[in-house]
Amino acid sequence: MDPTTRLLHAIEAPDAGRPAEPDLTLASYLVSDGEPDAADYLRADHPNWRDVERVLGALENADAVLFPSGQAATHAVLADLARTAGRLVLPEDGYYNTWALAAVVADATGVDVATVDLLDLDAVGRALDGGPAALWVETPTNPLLRVADLAALAAVVASSGAPMVVDNTLATALRQQPLAFGASASVASLTKGTTGHSDVLAGAVVTADVDLADRLRAWRTVTGAVPGAFEAWLVARSLRTLAVRSARQCATALTLARHLHADGRVAVHYPGLPPHREVADRQMTGGYGSVLSFEVDGDAAAADAVVAAARLIRPGTSFGGVVSSWERRARWPAETAPQSLIRLSVGLEAAGDLLTDLDQSLAAGVR
Ligand SMILES: *Cc1c(COP(=O)(O)O)cnc(C)c1O
Repeated sequence: MDPTTRLLHAIEAPDAGRPAEPDLTLASYLVSDGEPDAADYLRADHPNWRDVERVLGALENADAVLFPSGQAATHAVLADLARTAGRLVLPEDGYYNTWALAAVVADATGVDVATVDLLDLDAVGRALDGGPAALWVETPTNPLLRVADLAALAAVVASSGAPMVVDNTLATALRQQPLAFGASASVASLTKGTTGHSDVLAGAVVTADVDLADRLRAWRTVTGAVPGAFEAWLVARSLRTLAVRSARQCATALTLARHLHADGRVAVHYPGLPPHREVADRQMTGGYGSVLSFEVDGDAAAADAVVAAARLIRPGTSFGGVVSSWERRARWPAETAPQSLIRLSVGLEAAGDLLTDLDQSLAAGVR
């Protein structure tokens, strides 16, 4: 079945007389049948989490474990990797809170943390040399939209025996399935494009490694940072429309990226443009994502002026929502992106209206 169909049919059809769509289960325990069952206490398992896990698992033919945020999912995986790896190798550019979290895990466990340019395969190989290590990949990266070659990285980790984990937030599991390229797990913030309505925080880990999935569930149960039932229900509901939202957002994002590229006033970063297009075509399907970024020719103030001049595109962080938004990314002190870089999240507005807003904002901001 096409992933688009799996999104809708991974959750079993209800019996006659039952609600047509998954209902919200508000309970802290299930009535016992007398046999001890840890899953009866709903910190360990929950019907509304299971709905999400079925759908996300079906997209990658694997098991999925739901977490209350992308950070919680990342934390569970980094802590698991630190049990056996002496070194965590992270990408040099990517989501800066992953580095912050790796530092927390390093403090707690004594694991070393190193960063490397994922596009430099020799450097990746060297970073994994000398003792057990694990590779954390992010592609496309947030916010520079650089694309790492998953098949090539898988070959590098295969020769060193290191596990590879991919942060799949930007692409979503619909557009990119890292497990098929040799990743042992893919991690995503569902807060972004996967849910797309900017109304819920959630995260997930997808893996075909049954032992890893068991350990992640045990971690979630014992640490107690669990998703709420309503949040899980919102995620499952949002997944119903992921395919149509994503198709439209990817198409509009490509239109805007090409427009900016042709215009030449700004340096555009988008997986659907050179130099990343070729690798993206090998590992992404049906679109290059809803996010692009560009550096305006000027300083931070010039970029701030562009953001402020928009009439339609909302100023704000996060991305993947149905309403377009943008921000000068380096306004966050820990961000390492260039000062004049604006990250644009493309929503569901008509492409022509967004083009108009983009052009008038650039005209107002860039002199
Ligand atoms: C937002 C984000 C996260 C963290 O997810 P939260 O749901 O905000 O905790 C992780 N990785 C990437 C690439 C992100 O953009």
